[in-house]
Amino acid sequence: MNSNPNRTECRLLIVGAGPAGLTAAIYAARAGLKPVVLAGAAPGGQATESPEIENYPGVGRTDGYTLAARMLSSATEFGAEIVYETALKISLAEKTVKTESSEYVFRELILATGAAHRHLGIDGEDKFTGRGISYCATCDGGFYRGKNVAVVGGGDSALTEALYLSNIAESVTLIHRRDAYRASPVLVDRIKAQPKIRRLTGVITALGGNEKLQSVEVATIPSGIENLAVDALFVAIGGAPNTELVRGQLQLDEDGYIVTDALMRTDRDSVYAVGDVRNTPLRQIVTACADGAVAASQIVV
Ligand SMILES: Cc1cc2nc3c(=O)[nH]c(=O)nc-3n(C[C@H](O)[C@H](O)[C@H](O)COP(=O)(O)OP(=O)(O)OC[C@H]3O[C@@H](n4cnc5c(N)ncnc54)[C@H](O)[C@@H]3O)c2cc1C
Repeated sequence: MNSNPNRTECRLLIVGAGPAGLTAAIYAARAGLKPVVLAGAAPGGQATESPEIENYPGVGRTDGYTLAARMLSSATEFGAEIVYETALKISLAEKTVKTESSEYVFRELILATGAAHRHLGIDGEDKFTGRGISYCATCDGGFYRGKNVAVVGGGDSALTEALYLSNIAESVTLIHRRDAYRASPVLVDRIKAQPKIRRLTGVITALGGNEKLQSVEVATIPSGIENLAVDALFVAIGGAPNTELVRGQLQLDEDGYIVTDALMRTDRDSVYAVGDVRNTPLRQIVTACADGAVAASQIVV
């Protein structure tokens, strides 16, 4: 029994209750580890924001809330303890995580805190999100088959999204504020060779439409304002991983994602990172789940 009622010792603490953290919890709980999961502000994770998910195998077309609720109930059915609190301080040296009401002492820690997409920050962006504005071509590109779409951004992810969409959409306009891209040369070459992709240099200044996004106003360089009729705009201007609590304690890559090996191990013993928060080539539900399973399996053995 703990001498301090607000201090909980646990074999495995998982921070984050999105698909990655919940899958880790399911695998660990099934192996008898009794994991404790801190769910934070968004139990179920980013998927709960998606009205339509059709690329998670085996469940057909569903909404993200339903899928996330099923993952949460699976984790608790197998014996994981979900705590609806946010980690406020993590000390990897002391092996402790503090929330508002408690302190958790862990033997093993899985970080599954996810990431957010950077927003354009212009009027109408929130209103049109899910109604023409998307932050993920792999997730939503399929809804715009044969339509006219635009992608904004100039890094690897923007160019990858534009190429992906060029196989689906009627036309793709790639909008970037500079002439040169920050992407790898091979992607730039592919973009230039793809006749369906039009390259436009400029800055998005306004979004138009009633119920759904219908147009994007671009201040082009050097010619002036261009109004582009589009069915969708894919925003790919970078991500913001939730890694503030471990900054300076773990190796992060240049964009702030946690560096792991193929077994989800970080550069610290007994600390794993899974899902969107780590440096992974694909940020999707299925890859987040796979990461969680791999990490938990390392702890179980
Ligand atoms: C609108 C939208 C639509 C999408 N559509 C699809 C799709 O169709 N198909 C697909 O495969 N993917 C889709 N994705 C991507 C998918 O949702 C993510 O790749 C996936 O959710 C990542 O899972 P994760 O567990 O790594 O992180 P997240 O889902 O981001 O979960 C992070 C968890 O960490 C918690 N957390 C964060 N900080 C703390 C803290 N300090 N303390 C405690 N907890 C904390 C949060 O509360 C949350 O529970 C979509 C994403 C969005 C935003």
